[in-house]
Amino acid sequence: PIRVRFAPSPTGMFHVGGARSALFNWALALQQADGRFVLRIEDTDAARNRPEWTDGIIRALAWLGISADDPHFEGPYFQSAYAGKHRETAERLYKDGRAYYCDCTREQVQERRGNPHLGYDGFCRDRGLEPGPGRALRFRVPEGGPTVVDDRVRGRVEFEHSAIEDFVIARADGSPLFVLANVVDDVEMGVNTVVRGEEHLSNTPKQQLLWEALGRTAPVWAHLPVIVNEKRQKLSKRRDKVALESYQDEGFLAEAMVNYLMLLGWGPGEDREIMPFADMVPLFRLEDVNSSSAFFDEKKLRAFNGEYIRALDPAEFVERCRPWLTGESAPWPADHFDEAAFRAVAPLAQSRVAVLGEIVPNVDFLFLDEPAEDDRSWAKAMKPDTAVPMLEAALERLADPALEWAAEPLKAEVEAAGAGLGLKLGKAQAPVRVAVTGRTVGLPLFESLEVLGRERTLGRLRAALE
Ligand code: GLU
Repeated sequence: PIRVRFAPSPTGMFHVGGARSALFNWALALQQADGRFVLRIEDTDAARNRPEWTDGIIRALAWLGISADDPHFEGPYFQSAYAGKHRETAERLYKDGRAYYCDCTREQVQERRGNPHLGYDGFCRDRGLEPGPGRALRFRVPEGGPTVVDDRVRGRVEFEHSAIEDFVIARADGSPLFVLANVVDDVEMGVNTVVRGEEHLSNTPKQQLLWEALGRTAPVWAHLPVIVNEKRQKLSKRRDKVALESYQDEGFLAEAMVNYLMLLGWGPGEDREIMPFADMVPLFRLEDVNSSSAFFDEKKLRAFNGEYIRALDPAEFVERCRPWLTGESAPWPADHFDEAAFRAVAPLAQSRVAVLGEIVPNVDFLFLDEPAEDDRSWAKAMKPDTAVPMLEAALERLADPALEWAAEPLKAEVEAAGAGLGLKLGKAQAPVRVAVTGRTVGLPLFESLEVLGRERTLGRLRAALE
């Protein structure tokens, strides 16, 4: 059975690239009844780790549907718990003659080589140094021949041994380096398939040599293409919006996010794009992953999200919006939220928001005491020569107590008020919209007025004329 793993380091916000790796691994594990997805938190960089990042990883995975309750999920394991095993393995490699101690300082190596880009020169290979203070352990890279990495995505990649320095596997203080700890853990956890980002490809020949030195068959390797922004630059947390959580906060649906992330380097074929994860799982193959860089196109993601939102059952849409409407971030006092009013306009909003967070500016006119003041809207729609007479005319007609307060008659009155001033409906309704909702764009106006009600609508029209 396949055993994949996802091995994030808890040193920052969970990244969309990490999410893509996790999903590809998850899909592989789900393809087999006894397939396993091992979560290993690589928490050995004590200076940069924080427990909240670990919690963030687990929460983010759960949001993506990679649930610790699923029988395919195993862990989380913590790399720090395996420190003894890492040291033991380093010692074993030394005893077996596969590694040797070296006391060269960086300066000494550079002095001998005369070029900082040339790696270690093997100076201590045959000096037979015993372990001791100031001595790092280096792996003895076999002489001659290449190591061939048979990568499921990139094909055969050859690495000449002459170009691989005798790399350090344990520091002078005995602590293991990433290349070693990562392999030891994969061996311990029975991992047989490693799917990870391309940035690790340069570690792979070293790691394959370690697997072989430990008498094990190296895993199947697959290195996923880098994810780039619209300038074809590798996504970076300084430059780009990469934290999964920020997408979640804006109101991207997990289903849409998962769907989109699965397309970063892979596709179900036949130009299909919108497809639920469960349908993708049986189709996913590492061999079909593209090795060229994948463009993270936020516009496309938004379009996907809009489609997923429109496909929700209306009652479900209401529930999904709730955190934005009744949570701490809502710009009105909690008791101003009116469930019935929201339900009445929700279907109108569902067809026009691309992310759930956009629900707020669309419905805030219902829950704020005064419409949001958007200066640009006022400047744009409230041309004094037309807006004032239009608002006066509309107010006069809408204030008629005999008027039935419903979208159709409201529309007829505003249209008639505009006609009296030579304004078409579009021009006539603009100042009414701004006066009542504070915005130039929004939900269909007359339905909005119907839900807002007579008193509040008339009050806002009067306030705008003051
Ligand atoms: N902790 C490493 C990382 O986050 C894991 C690399 C791997 O998947 O082997 O980059």
